Amino acid sequence: MHKSALVLFSGGQDSTTCLALALSRYERVETVAFDYRQRHSVELQARVEVLAQIRRQFPAWAPKLGQDHVLDLAVLGQVSETSLTRDTAFKMESSGLPNTFVPGRNLLFLTLAAALAYRRDLEVIVTGVCETDFSGYPDCRDDSMKAMQLALSLGMDKRFLVDTPLMWIDKAQTWELARQLGGQALIDLIVEHTHTCYLGDREHRHAWGYGCGHCPACALRAAGHARYTAGLLSSR
Ligand code: ZN
Repeated sequence: MHKSALVLFSGGQDSTTCLALALSRYERVETVAFDYRQRHSVELQARVEVLAQIRRQFPAWAPKLGQDHVLDLAVLGQVSETSLTRDTAFKMESSGLPNTFVPGRNLLFLTLAAALAYRRDLEVIVTGVCETDFSGYPDCRDDSMKAMQLALSLGMDKRFLVDTPLMWIDKAQTWELARQLGGQALIDLIVEHTHTCYLGDREHRHAWGYGCGHCPACALRAAGHARYTAGLLSSR
């Protein structure tokens, strides 16, 4: 079976859970992120800290965790709404997506990840995309992922597996998956060190971690954590 994987790792809750899953499933795991300048630098800092904490706290996983890659995708800033429309500040659209959203962004991420996986001889591309909670991004849907897996495998003449472990689970189940993979230590690591907030808020600390508490990303993370915690209590 497959032995090596490249994880699209942003430093958020979802991709950290995907990384834990990959480390429990594959023998050699590398990580990749994309720096497109609109992303708050706290997110890129968070991912470095999460990697360091995983190496420190999970000795069984540490030897499997290989190179981390950050690819410069500044060009994405040139096709976002904020740069195409003069005097447009960051805001949330009625769709629930930030106006910095770039159509097809995830397709670009996967294409570059596959090129990197090809070079690094990695067989599986793991991504934390999900249809259950947040289907606003059409390039994160299951059909899009399956189409990309086929296109990348044909176009690079190498059989890639695009692994999407979170596709059909909700945010509460994502917390539960993390608990199953790494126990309370992984839950604590995710709460303390991962970053999800669209506004880059690292000042306000909640039971579920840092964030403004109001943006859609915070609301989703908070609601999922509340349901996860309630589930833990009721199962005792
Ligand atoms: Zn927020």
